[in-house]
Amino acid sequence: MEKDTLDKINRFTRREFSADELYTFSVILCDNDIDRDCECFSDSALEKLKELFIGRTGIFDHDASTANQNARIFDTEIVTDEQRTTKYGVPYRYLKASAYMVRTDDNKNLIAEIDGGIKKEVSISCSAAKRKCSVCGCDKAVQSCSHIKGKSYGGRLCHIVLDNITDAYEWSFVAVPAQVNAGVTKKFTDDGTSKSAADDITGGEHELRRDIRRLAYFSGGRQAVLLAEAAAKNMNRLQLEGLKKAYEKLSGRNKTEVQLSAETENDAAAVYKL
Ligand SMILES: [Zn+2]
Repeated sequence: MEKDTLDKINRFTRREFSADELYTFSVILCDNDIDRDCECFSDSALEKLKELFIGRTGIFDHDASTANQNARIFDTEIVTDEQRTTKYGVPYRYLKASAYMVRTDDNKNLIAEIDGGIKKEVSISCSAAKRKCSVCGCDKAVQSCSHIKGKSYGGRLCHIVLDNITDAYEWSFVAVPAQVNAGVTKKFTDDGTSKSAADDITGGEHELRRDIRRLAYFSGGRQAVLLAEAAAKNMNRLQLEGLKKAYEKLSGRNKTEVQLSAETENDAAAVYKL
């Protein structure tokens, strides 16, 4: 762990922690693409969420028994992927968060699950005071217009642009996507593929390949993912483990688990699938 990272984390802790007491991982909280609800976050919404999520605690499964197994976001950044455009034709941007947990006996299993990619989905809840119609620009939070989200007008998909974020409540890992009734809940799934029995048999390799793609993505974007995929194609489990370690070193974040946001029909899913 870099000293800079450790310093950032220790700003939130009651005492100074050393690197080996901490576990860090990354998640993608949200992005600017149109999601399955035909909504997207505006650039300024992402900027606001970037501020608001600093220091926010994440919870797991909304489960009281894991209430003391919290992770806290200590850093956020907005990442632009110039290689990829949104459904409405601008560069794809996402809000990436780095979170930490203090390693304890209680969260050992949870950390193993995050490492192993079992905790797959991140959801966030926040309030957006403005809900702009992409066709006419009217604020649907205060007035209505004739445009219906999901329909095309002059070849352009009508969607709602979420803007003027007033609060961010929480982020969570959920085994089953949770609906939070306050404000807007956005859910982002891994790659939309459902687990089958066959998946479970080859589970170890499947997870390794996914980890490699994710680490590659953060070391060099989509291009790096394509290269990593080509390199990993005919590798066995041992070789894959070696490659994963190499990418961990490259990204400078040992043991970092990265959560990709990709909707089921999202083109990202195609990119991250081996
Ligand atoms: Zn409208």
